[in-house]
Amino acid sequence: MAFDFDLLTIGAGSGGVAGTRRAASYGARTAIIEDVRVGGTCVLRGCVPKKLLVYGAGYAEAFEDAVGFGWTVGETRLDWGKLVAAKDKELDRLHDIYIGMLEKPGVKIIDGRGVLVDAHTVAVGDQRFTAERIMIATGGHAIRPDIPGAELGVISDHALDLTALPKRAIVVGAGYIAVEFAGIFRSAGVDVTMVYRGDLPLRGFDGEVREQMAAAMAARGVAMRGGVGLKRLAKTADGLRLTLADDTALDGDVVLFATGRKPNSQGLGLEAVGVKTNADGAVLVDAWSRTNVPSIYAVGDVTDRLNLTPIAIAEARAFAETTFNNNPMTVGYDNVPTAVFGRPEIGVVGLSEEDAIKAGHAVDVYTTRFRPMRNVISGRDERTFLKIVVDSQSDIVLGCHMVGPDAAEIVQGLAVALVCGATKAQFDRTIGLHPSAAEEFVTMRDKRPPR
Ligand code: NDP
Repeated sequence: MAFDFDLLTIGAGSGGVAGTRRAASYGARTAIIEDVRVGGTCVLRGCVPKKLLVYGAGYAEAFEDAVGFGWTVGETRLDWGKLVAAKDKELDRLHDIYIGMLEKPGVKIIDGRGVLVDAHTVAVGDQRFTAERIMIATGGHAIRPDIPGAELGVISDHALDLTALPKRAIVVGAGYIAVEFAGIFRSAGVDVTMVYRGDLPLRGFDGEVREQMAAAMAARGVAMRGGVGLKRLAKTADGLRLTLADDTALDGDVVLFATGRKPNSQGLGLEAVGVKTNADGAVLVDAWSRTNVPSIYAVGDVTDRLNLTPIAIAEARAFAETTFNNNPMTVGYDNVPTAVFGRPEIGVVGLSEEDAIKAGHAVDVYTTRFRPMRNVISGRDERTFLKIVVDSQSDIVLGCHMVGPDAAEIVQGLAVALVCGATKAQFDRTIGLHPSAAEEFVTMRDKRPPR
């Protein structure tokens, strides 16, 4: 049967674009369907705009610190609307670049919402397109908690586009998004309360990293309300009131629900074609990103494996290499570095102490807390925290953790070492780059037993 395309992709986010371009570069006839804007969550509603706001709000800290270094800093004021407009301009630029990146290798861009009709056909409005293979790369969306009045709160998509800063923000949840927005708002001078149901933020991260981060956020003025659930959200005369499970209430101008994300698998025609999903709606795939329907593949957040942009890109490229370049490839999910761009910043690669022990390792742990040089003269009383988790039998470094300035930049380099299976002895043999915070990763000597 002659198909319109060799590959038809639904969703032009990071994964969809990367995989389709790669397939096109090998001569595949490709098309990509997008119903919002080319770019997806990371470029338009996530990583990129978020980091621009982190940079923008973060100047507050630079102004404060500059005084200790002899600067006279005049009155400072953040024009939030100007920052958001500059961010939007950059997103428009990136959007155009993405379109160019698709058009150059000959990917056809189809505007509209794709719905599977059968194993080789996708409908977009009244049109039908056929393809030998279909890649689902539709991503995910933020969800609100199931409480009365939840619609009065915003999700991260909206928080990125606020035209004016609230005076008081309540951030619900304590994952990546909550911690990052609490940092942005607080740096920008907003009164921030973070409400979360666990005892510490960032479930899944190393326990000491969580403790360090919770203490640092509190020290920066974020009111941390842990260990409490939610009851309802309601309007008041001058804002919003969030009533908590213990019947106390918090008043704010904006309530941000950063309470997790779900796969975008509804309304795609998956049931009609027989593509299996799990209870959360994630498309079930094997290591090759194959669904149970042989011509249909899925990558990225819609599969809810490890919801990070570089993983979606890697999954999509592995599929394209395997299928269109006869170069079989799967993605490794170990030693994936990740960062939380909060204030302070967190960078992590490999296992936490708790997960290493759970996985059966006997571990040695190395930690250090120090005042980074930039804080000495500025008078900022914040410590940087570094931690290495080592398998005590093999001496292999299982995890590196950092809370402090530049953590993301530093941990990316360490990830190479962990992927190569570096041992603690090899870390020790590495000469430190002086003076830097990063050098502490190769100079830690005093091990302690697990907690
Ligand atoms: P997460 O899953 O990381 O965190 C969700 C948070 O909401 C948790 O603290 C969770 O609590 C809490 N929560 C969930 N349901 C409720 C509820 N009903 N009531 C109260 N609290 C609730 O989600 P995020 O939205 O922060 O981020 C989604 C994903 O996006 C991340 O997992 C990550 O993969 C990705 N991401 C990555 C970033 C990066 O790399 N820098 C940045 C932003 C997002 P509990 O822990 O108790 O379940």
